[in-house]
Amino acid sequence: MDDKHAIGVDVGGTKILAGVVSVDGHVLRRHERSTPTDTQEHVVAELETAIAELLDDSVAAIGFGAPSSTDQRRGYLYPTVNTPLGNIPLRDRIQERFGLPVGLDNDANAAAIGEWKAGAGRGVDDMLMLTLGTGVGGGVISEGRPFRGNNGIGAELGHVVVVHDGRPCQGICTGRGHLEAYLTGLAATAAAREAFGPSADAHRLVRLANEGEETAIEILTGIGRILGSGLGSFANVFGPELIVIGGGFGVAAFEFLIPPALEVMHREALEPMRSMARVEKAQLGTAAGLIGAAFVAFEALEAVAA
Ligand SMILES: [Zn+2]
Repeated sequence: MDDKHAIGVDVGGTKILAGVVSVDGHVLRRHERSTPTDTQEHVVAELETAIAELLDDSVAAIGFGAPSSTDQRRGYLYPTVNTPLGNIPLRDRIQERFGLPVGLDNDANAAAIGEWKAGAGRGVDDMLMLTLGTGVGGGVISEGRPFRGNNGIGAELGHVVVVHDGRPCQGICTGRGHLEAYLTGLAATAAAREAFGPSADAHRLVRLANEGEETAIEILTGIGRILGSGLGSFANVFGPELIVIGGGFGVAAFEFLIPPALEVMHREALEPMRSMARVEKAQLGTAAGLIGAAFVAFEALEAVAA
């Protein structure tokens, strides 16, 4: 099995990132194409093309990290906010087309699995990951296994309440005061525009902070403190050894978000969780999702062999 490879596919709102990955998490070949925004059939056709581009005799399984909750029993994707995918039996369709075992997971779970197996979380049994990007994704590894809740729908850590009756959440979420309403690149862009005018965005905010601009640092400090409320609660619930912060915004603003986040987290978390949980930056960058998706594929392969 050690010489076998898996194809991992990270299905993003704008890009499909696919790669052939070894059992130790090395990406051997990559392929990238745009995610269509018109029809589901078009998206699936592009996923199939990405896989066909990478396929060779060494590939033993295929895995997906999808921007939606997954029904792991039926191999379905639930409807998504950002791509025209939903209520589709993706696992059976890809299995039939390529004749290989197929695994599905949520993209944030896949990213957490990627960092756990091949990045910041190597050798750790209890960790969680938050990705701060266009949304806030979460994934949990508990007692050396991915935590998936009922049939693969957990863990949506971005949709926990940190402010009662707070700011409305994004997309199809009807909630208020969720982490996702405060911690995304979009939320940072909105704050940057309010402070620096309509052409500002999250990138400029982080650049200004790097240049020492005080208002920019203050805005990121405020976002970091809200992050800390979430991290303190997660530390109390999951008792992790490690919390990994990823996603485009999370990685770019890490140095500004984490000191205030730790201050609040250490106030909110009980001992011994407070002292136990380290917070680190993700290591795999944009490859975390596809590497994790490949490990979901290896899981599907093991399930077939068992
Ligand atoms: Zn929400």
